[in-house]
Amino acid sequence: AANPQRDFPEAYELCKKFDISDANMEEIVQRLTKEIKMGLAKDTHPRAVVKCFITYVQDLPTGKERGKYLALDLGGTNFRVLLVTLRSETEIDIESKSYVISHTLMEGPGKNLFDFIAECLSSFCKDYHIEKENLPLGFTFSFPLKQVGINKGIMITWTKGFKCDGVVGKNVVELLQDAINRRGDLKVRIVAILNDTTGTLMSCAFGNRNCRIGLIVGTGSNACYVEKTSNTEMLEGYQTSNKPNMIVNCELGAFGDNGVLDFIRTPYDNAVDKQSINPKRQTLEKCISGMYLGELVRHVVVELMGKGLLFKGLDSQAIHEKWRFQTSYISDIESDPEGSYRQAAMIMDQMGIRTHVEKDLACLRYICQTVSTRSAKLTSCVLACLIQKMNTKDCSVGIDGGVYRYHPHYHNLLVENMNKLLKGSAKFELIVSEDGSGRGAALIAAVSV
Ligand code: ADP
Repeated sequence: AANPQRDFPEAYELCKKFDISDANMEEIVQRLTKEIKMGLAKDTHPRAVVKCFITYVQDLPTGKERGKYLALDLGGTNFRVLLVTLRSETEIDIESKSYVISHTLMEGPGKNLFDFIAECLSSFCKDYHIEKENLPLGFTFSFPLKQVGINKGIMITWTKGFKCDGVVGKNVVELLQDAINRRGDLKVRIVAILNDTTGTLMSCAFGNRNCRIGLIVGTGSNACYVEKTSNTEMLEGYQTSNKPNMIVNCELGAFGDNGVLDFIRTPYDNAVDKQSINPKRQTLEKCISGMYLGELVRHVVVELMGKGLLFKGLDSQAIHEKWRFQTSYISDIESDPEGSYRQAAMIMDQMGIRTHVEKDLACLRYICQTVSTRSAKLTSCVLACLIQKMNTKDCSVGIDGGVYRYHPHYHNLLVENMNKLLKGSAKFELIVSEDGSGRGAALIAAVSV
């Protein structure tokens, strides 16, 4: 097997910049705890970086929820309409249809976007003959949203390529309801608006009554958790609420935007941040999520190549192209069994660098491991922080997102590092959560009607 220190010492030294020591991990947990408390408290919330939005979801599923629900999913790659039928704890039918949102719609007036959504919803309901059933609908809307009720949310800002006029500052549920009313051919009740993390928690909690955290490690990264209502000062009447719990959407991606993560950031993080569409924002997300991991690896590779320390004598246009190195390549490269570099060689070939020099391919794999391990360590800090904040002795975490699902070692890295941080103080289980934006939306609709 390769020995990094002996086989590629310069690259080994460079990768050390991504190391997070055990002491640093503990420091990160402490700092995040402080930021979360600031987000929760009324006097510090306005200037808090980690916003900790209350979701108005105060009931977890009991497993007894039944019935037919509609769900809309906006904010991923496709827009989807879903019909979810909860038949029993293990029997859930989902019918769904995806629709492409054109660039014209993504950057045009909000009215056109919501008219399109209503049109898709209407045609979907007609296909299933449910247009007059007045079904409850849960709206998964994965953009920053300040919720002021279970079915009332004010749009903060567009992200992910959307930029529609006349939506920021408005109640998104009302915009959708208006569009439905304009058509006049459809009866539905929009009973809840939610974020994908909340859907992920609820979806997992349906079969796993102990689920207390919803985590996304996909294109972006974020988490929500079950807080005591007595700690959610942003809820009016929080002291006298008769419901003990509240799901809090941390909007964790922004952790570090005030500089508290600078002590672990590297020159490569700075470079990726500078070239992003949102410089100086989403600091934690840029160290963790799928949108950025491949690009971090690419920067390290390009630097080593420039110094003549990797793929010597070889070069290509592709390796110098921003965002060209996909995060899925990291998974592929790390999936090669020990001593084999088949996928690594194939990927570099695709990148225009044809080589079978084992030392170089081993070095490439080491860079990938370095970047994905740091991501997993930071995610472990997040989970340990939330588990300690809840003071739970035993809980499950529902997780979704391509990085967690497809990286070959991510799950094990999380378990290993969480154990380090929790030191046996709490038991936990990490579970893939299926279709949070569909099932989860239906469950929230079910518990809130
Ligand atoms: P989203 O987060 O957009 O809702 P997903 O949860 O499916 O969607 O995550 C998609 C992201 O996961 C992609 O942007 C990509 O960065 C990452 N991804 C996709 N495939 C892999 C893979 N094989 N290994 C690691 N990450 C992946």
